Amino acid sequence: MPTSVVTGGAGFLGSHLCDRLLAEGHRVICLDNLDTGTLENIEHIRSPEFDFQQHDVTGYLEVPGAVDFVFHLASPASPIDYLRLPLHTLKVGSYGTHNALGLAKAKRARFLLASTSEVYGDPKEHPQSEDYWGHVNPIGPRGVYDEAKRYAEALTMAYHRQQGVDTHIVRIFNTYGPRMRPHDGRAIPTFLRQAMENKPLTVFGDGSQTRSFCFVSDLIEGFLRLIGSDYHLPVNIGNPGEYTILQLAEEILRVTGSTSEIVYEALPQDDPTVRQPDITLARSLLGWEPTVGLEEGLRSTLDMDADRETAHTAS
Ligand code: NAD
Ligand code: UDP
Repeated sequence: MPTSVVTGGAGFLGSHLCDRLLAEGHRVICLDNLDTGTLENIEHIRSPEFDFQQHDVTGYLEVPGAVDFVFHLASPASPIDYLRLPLHTLKVGSYGTHNALGLAKAKRARFLLASTSEVYGDPKEHPQSEDYWGHVNPIGPRGVYDEAKRYAEALTMAYHRQQGVDTHIVRIFNTYGPRMRPHDGRAIPTFLRQAMENKPLTVFGDGSQTRSFCFVSDLIEGFLRLIGSDYHLPVNIGNPGEYTILQLAEEILRVTGSTSEIVYEALPQDDPTVRQPDITLARSLLGWEPTVGLEEGLRSTLDMDADRETAHTAS
């Protein structure tokens, strides 16, 4: 039975990854300091092969026994989280990534870094392919996240090139699904919550900025294909379906049947104007492409979160 370590495993993506790995027959060691994750995300897991350890990966990291895979997801991810935790975000991208890579090296494990489309910043190339170097403001408020991830990518390549670690880098584009925190500030959980509460949907700026939204199960499939491959340079995983944020708000009103109004608020500094993955590489290398469209994904998110709420209330 293979053993996987998942840092950030009690977070949104990490908890779905733990579920999938257990379903694939892995033993899973989930390391999380619960900064932005929660035990509720993993409380449904009953498997004896699942081990949760509350641990900050920026500190000393040791895992007894054999480890075959290290998935390094630990990091604040929502703008409101990394703006609240700027130093921690830089620390987890640097020390945390060093420690996770050191673990992979010591165990001769395959390693996957959860990087981000934010390495492209406010891109001047559209859509973004992996060979675009990006347009990031290093000293703006988002710099703490963007540069931490850029550093983490550099570090990962150095461990691969100099230390021979079997590393993989996934550049994740906006991903959504059940278990996102309703107040995590990201567009989809915010709009869903506002729509369900019949409160105004808060579109920042004029809503003409674009994003491309991937459903979580598609992303996790991409993780598994990538870590099983022999490819070591970054790979975009995301859904190329591109929407303006105003279109997203309108779609959420339609899907929820809400009569909420849309209100416009100030655009945050350095908010990227466009974002859309070029997934040519993922298609050719991994045979991967997304299978869940936005409407289906939003409906699944609503249904699965409602089921979870019901189960929680009943217990
Ligand atoms: P999340 O905030 O739900 O999960 C992050 C998890 O990391 C949390 O459980 C948090 O408690 C944990 N964590 C933070 N610092 C830690 C530390 N020092 N030690 C141990 N655990 C720590 O966010 P998410 O959306 O699940 O993102 C997971 C990863 O994917 C992040 O690395 C993020 O940068 C990356 N990513 C996510 C998206 C997305 O759209 N969801 C997009 C691009 C990249
Ligand atoms: N956004 C918005 N209203 C909100 C939350 C976000 O208009 O209540 C916008 C935000 O300004 C950005 C887009 O939605 O242009 C996506 O934001 P999110 O925080 O989800 O992700 P990121 O900016 O990291 O792509």
